[in-house]
Amino acid sequence: MQIVSYIIYLLASVLFIFGIKKLGSPKTARQGNMLSSIGMFLAVVITLFDHMIITYEWIIIGLIVGALIGSTMALKVQMTGMPQMVGLLNGFGGGASALVALGEYFKVDNPAFEINIIITVVLSVLIGAVTFTGSMIAFGKLQGIVTGKVVKYPLQNPINILLFLATLVAGVFLVIDQTHSELLIGIVAVALVLGVLLVLPIGGADMPVAISLLNSYSGIAASMTGFVINNNMLIIAGALVGASGIILTLIMCRGMNRSLMNVVLGGWESAGSSGPAAGDGTQKPHKSIDSEELAMLFDAASSCIIVPGYGMAVAQAQHAIRDLANVLESKGVKVSFAIHPVAGRMPGHMNVLLAEAQVSYDKLFALEDINDDFPNTDIVLVIGANDVVNPAARHDKSSPIFGMPILNVDYSKTVIVNKRSMNVGYAGIDNELFYLDNTLMYFGDAKGAVTKLVNELKEL
Ligand code: NDP
Repeated sequence: MQIVSYIIYLLASVLFIFGIKKLGSPKTARQGNMLSSIGMFLAVVITLFDHMIITYEWIIIGLIVGALIGSTMALKVQMTGMPQMVGLLNGFGGGASALVALGEYFKVDNPAFEINIIITVVLSVLIGAVTFTGSMIAFGKLQGIVTGKVVKYPLQNPINILLFLATLVAGVFLVIDQTHSELLIGIVAVALVLGVLLVLPIGGADMPVAISLLNSYSGIAASMTGFVINNNMLIIAGALVGASGIILTLIMCRGMNRSLMNVVLGGWESAGSSGPAAGDGTQKPHKSIDSEELAMLFDAASSCIIVPGYGMAVAQAQHAIRDLANVLESKGVKVSFAIHPVAGRMPGHMNVLLAEAQVSYDKLFALEDINDDFPNTDIVLVIGANDVVNPAARHDKSSPIFGMPILNVDYSKTVIVNKRSMNVGYAGIDNELFYLDNTLMYFGDAKGAVTKLVNELKEL
């Protein structure tokens, strides 16, 4: 039986790896999800045949309750609510790992684990507890239950470092004398506090990065727990989550041209604010256009690039945008979509929404593949994007987004920017694109504004 379970675990691991690989492209992402799910199903089924299981009652109750809660959450969650849902699940993962490790430790009266096992008990409890409370705060910030502001207080970093060192010292003493259960309880308590203190300073809008990092932590905690209960599957699956979480975190940071430290230590004070642009209060001159004029402009165009951003997700305008692309194409306009790596609030956010609206993948182009096409494009339509098209990133050294790769929409003949107002985006800064000679603002909620434009175009 043991050999069968090893083979199935190996097969599940291979499915996870291929699944993750396929998640790398929107074209194969569904397949990747399916492969990984089959892998997880096989792993769970074979684990249920483990000879160590004495009774199935609680396992079945857990399966039913968990499946009910999980599927209800998955069905109800809005696309814009995905980051906090992932945050919550990371927290549960970290908490579960910590509880399993605690259970293993307390199940014997006189603990005498091998040194590598007791070390992994400590690490699993420490990382799992930090992940649990950290993720709960991240969830609270995104859900608006906890302040989304950057929270700073005196001696913040020294206090955190001190607490972390205290858990390590307690861990070393526990490894030396395993009978001191109060040390493990102390580690849990301090780690729970540490999770709160580490995530609290991070601005609400930086949360997607923090959540990706916490995702990585939850994987590491699970991997450690795999060592504690001697389960190869958990070790491998946890390591995969840990590694992919950290890679995703770094991709997000690179896309914003920021260091992980800058995010973790509460980088952009103003990030996530949605108020008016900072300045002397007087609004700079800009030109605007209405749907009728815009339809006429499009009627004379032969090429168009659509640049979606966070506003498209908020307005759920992807279906209206697909209709627009169809109408334009029926009029002979060449339509492409330019996708910035950090447009929206999650990597791949725009791809997922456009795929949901059946926009064909071969029309979506990554930043590096489309940036040279802007100068030869008649009209660029920016829908609810702001920071990712701000030219200040190219030349203004004082800008918080200086150095962030942007879509060079300002190089095109005409730029139409659709948003509701002149308000700032995620980075909390004004956007010089809005005031350029070749830019026209098309104000309104993305869904309504695009639908209006489609109707006008159909009437022409
Ligand atoms: P931004 O957040 O910069 O701007 C979005 C714009 O959408 C706002 O200026 C807003 O203007 C507009 N908007 C909001 N609601 C609507 C609506 N209903 N209809 C029309 N417009 C609307 O978005 P971008 O996508 O350009 O940039 C993403 C930002 O998020 C970047 O700074 C990135 O670094 C950051 N980020 C991205 C992550 C990722 O992985 N994708 C992770 C973490 C951060 P108005 O209020 O006037 O309508």
